[in-house]
Amino acid sequence: MSSTDQAASTAASAGLFADACAVIPGGVNSPVRAFNSVGGTPRYITSAKGYWLTDADSNRYIDLVCSWGPMILGHAHPAVVEAVQRAAADGLSFGAPTPGETELAAEIIARVKPVERVRLVNSGTEATMSAVRLARGFTGRSKVIKFSGCYHGHVDALLADAGSGVATLGLPSSPGVTGATAADTIVLPYNDVAAVEESFAKFGDSIAAVITEACPGNMGAVPPLPGYNAALRRTTAEHGALLIIDEVMTGFRMSRSGWYGLDPVDADLFTFGKVMSGGLPAAAFGGRRDVMERLAPLGPVYQAGTLSGNPVAVAAGLATLRNADDAVYAALDSNADRLAGLLSDALTEAGVAHQVPRAGNFLSVFFTDSPVTNFAEAKASETWRFPAFFHSLLDAGVYAPPSAFETWFVSAALDDAAFDRIADALPTAARAAAGAKQ
Ligand SMILES: *Cc1c(COP(=O)(O)O)cnc(C)c1O
Repeated sequence: MSSTDQAASTAASAGLFADACAVIPGGVNSPVRAFNSVGGTPRYITSAKGYWLTDADSNRYIDLVCSWGPMILGHAHPAVVEAVQRAAADGLSFGAPTPGETELAAEIIARVKPVERVRLVNSGTEATMSAVRLARGFTGRSKVIKFSGCYHGHVDALLADAGSGVATLGLPSSPGVTGATAADTIVLPYNDVAAVEESFAKFGDSIAAVITEACPGNMGAVPPLPGYNAALRRTTAEHGALLIIDEVMTGFRMSRSGWYGLDPVDADLFTFGKVMSGGLPAAAFGGRRDVMERLAPLGPVYQAGTLSGNPVAVAAGLATLRNADDAVYAALDSNADRLAGLLSDALTEAGVAHQVPRAGNFLSVFFTDSPVTNFAEAKASETWRFPAFFHSLLDAGVYAPPSAFETWFVSAALDDAAFDRIADALPTAARAAAGAKQ
């Protein structure tokens, strides 16, 4: 399919987007999907299988977003589909406990050593919101440190200077978050241990927790400098604050044990989502038993959910985790290597200054000469080159994240044919990035 064929045939998506805009704000249920920062019409996906996405105009794309992470096995993996169908046939929700919830909690506990107890929720946002509430309830303190460019879902207290869509749309925070909430959030630059120590020296007695992405992927891929997470562990412990490591994006993607498998720092609480849900709405938080047992009904910290531990979502998560064997993790790593190599070669050939940072199987593209270690450096890159790069790839049937501030996600399903198509698409896209005007 030539790029002109594909570029010409987005009429059905355009019509569906117009219909959506009449009933849904901006036409989407999560902002980055609207293509605001890259322009153009979001593609309406009607089906997906393996690494292919098919849109309403019957265009096909190689998927490098993977539903923002969950689909490590590729789309519609037969074992996951079968598990979901079997669970659905037995009833969708009971509002009473089910055996699968225990199995999924046990699966998480078996993989991430510091996690002794787990509670299931419906989204990563709920997981971080609940973890922060629990940390405040446990310590009796109110302030929380978060890092600029880290995204922890749309929790009021954690939206300040957040990554992902907040970064994509250039919002400092969000109206609707009260001054009192914002006042309890301390935002520090990422990868700066001295800033954390200074903050603890000043406010140590009132800091309930530090929350950090295990390895940030929501400002692009910006790995922690060696020893950074361990330094956060030390500093929080010295001051009686909890460390919350947010593995919603990295959990069970970076390894069987998530980022913890690569950088084993014993946080007090961890949050999970994305991969552990297999693509349905499920997420979790867990950690030290003495902290987790402060949750209702054992303790006074309230947390609940009508659909939490939903049997169909749990079945999808369990099937995904159980089918993610060593071969899958090896494929994720080698596919990320291969994609990063192709990106870097094409951009070098086109003479565009770039970085393709890698962290586990995360990678992203920054148009700059210098390594990116924090959000300020990410924002200082030539993000205006990104829309041309993105759209050239999209026209050639390669679906990259529609934002310069997002990680690219590989699945284990990618094969030689997929990489051949990506390799064919990249030289034109790299030249489009080189020719982009600010
Ligand atoms: C996606 C994400 C969240 C939010 O999860 P939702 O399911 O979208 O609410 C939280 N933290 C991190 C690190 C994420 O990547």
